[in-house]
Amino acid sequence: MADYETVIGLEVHAQLLTNSKIFSSAPVGAEAEPNVNVSPVCLGMPGVLPVLNRRAVDLAVMAAAATNCSIERVSRFERKNYFYPDLPKGYQISQYQEPLAKNGWIDIETDGETKRIRITRVHMEEDAGKLIHSDSVSLVDLNRAGVALIEIVSEPDMSEPEQASEYVKTLRQILRYVGACDGNMEKGNLRCDANVSVRPAGCEKLGVKVEIKNLNSFKFLRKALEYEATRQTAALENGDKVVQETRLFDPDSGKTFPMRSKEQAEDYRYFPDPDLPPLVVEPETVEEIKRSLPELHTEKILRFETEYGIKKTDAERLAAERKTADYFEAAVKRSGAPKETANWILTHAAGGEDEVPPENLGEMVAMIKNGEISGPVARDIFPRMAETGKTAPEIVEELGLSQVSDTAEIEKIARDFVERHPEEAERFRSGEEKLMGFFVGGVMKETGGKANPKVASGQLKKILGDGK
Ligand code: ADP
Ligand code: MG
Repeated sequence: MADYETVIGLEVHAQLLTNSKIFSSAPVGAEAEPNVNVSPVCLGMPGVLPVLNRRAVDLAVMAAAATNCSIERVSRFERKNYFYPDLPKGYQISQYQEPLAKNGWIDIETDGETKRIRITRVHMEEDAGKLIHSDSVSLVDLNRAGVALIEIVSEPDMSEPEQASEYVKTLRQILRYVGACDGNMEKGNLRCDANVSVRPAGCEKLGVKVEIKNLNSFKFLRKALEYEATRQTAALENGDKVVQETRLFDPDSGKTFPMRSKEQAEDYRYFPDPDLPPLVVEPETVEEIKRSLPELHTEKILRFETEYGIKKTDAERLAAERKTADYFEAAVKRSGAPKETANWILTHAAGGEDEVPPENLGEMVAMIKNGEISGPVARDIFPRMAETGKTAPEIVEELGLSQVSDTAEIEKIARDFVERHPEEAERFRSGEEKLMGFFVGGVMKETGGKANPKVASGQLKKILGDGK
């Protein structure tokens, strides 16, 4: 029996973070009543004209630049004609023959290796409305109609569902970093159509592909692809043919079902939209936008590793969100202790970022490092800092939590503790050195965690050594 391999190419739709729609001034609101965020343009009224949103173009160029595409000086909007009740005009304005950008790529990491996925094109288009079906009626909400989207089309460069999922994750990260899209998949602001085919291993020619529409989570994307690859492989092994069609994934059964036979491009009767002039993006504008792009997360991870000497896994976690990364850097500026700061943000401070300004966290980390407070005391005061907005020194002062480094005072407590534990002291003196932990722990407890552990263990060594 021949081995089969899977081939996957993805089309990702991303909603651009504009305040108004792509061809009208109708607002793009998150949580509005149905059919409120509309204008005559989104309703497809006769006689109205589309006007391209400048911000949408900037964001699309940012996304295209961040995915290493070359941006065309001239691109064109075309009408994609089809009838559907969520599309009042009877056509969607999209780009077809002359897209905004072409020939890009992004790198993804799978199985510990970097794999480059080529991007065929990035084009701009408008979203359609939404249909809501109930038992007796179907309703249409046109709030989404005319919302600015980009479609990012990949080459069929992936061979495993896991790679497809990693590709969407990486792409989402990039779009969020540059601020082109919020990446919210639940709300449909980022959604994915997956094209998948199988072919005998080593065969050059691509197999017949199936398109699975509207996958809105990484899990569904993986599951749908796994199911399809298995289904198509079984078909070929049986000597059956795979039919080129559009399918839908049903999360409940974990299966895909035919939705319609795949329409061909000519079915849409694309033609240049006569209401819109060609889109011209001058190279100077592209350069300006490229210069304004923030550092992307992969670059940030590398810089965190080299500049701050923190572990790759920690750098990845810190750089996952731009907000966390900025917080970390601001805190390090104050603490001067990158590793300790990273550690604090990743282990104890999670969720506290909104309440505690980074400078205050940095100040607290510096106090731990200088021996002014102990780790346990820091863990105790951090929630109070979040609650009250006060700084670490203020709270330490108020609660009298300063670390005790006074040698004489610690020595007294240590002597006392050793005297009360003669048996352990004897065992330590006869060589059971691991008991030092017991003594240091005891002294820390006696002082409510305030003793400087270094001073405590120094004193204990001296006292326990005395009897030798
Ligand atoms: P269509 O004309 O059906 O839209 P395209 O050639 O524009 O097809 O490709 C759409 C998407 O499908 C792209 O992401 C592409 O990489 C992917 N694709 C094309 N052919 C195949 C195939 N045989 N198997 C898997 N994916 C494919
Ligand atoms: Mg296509």
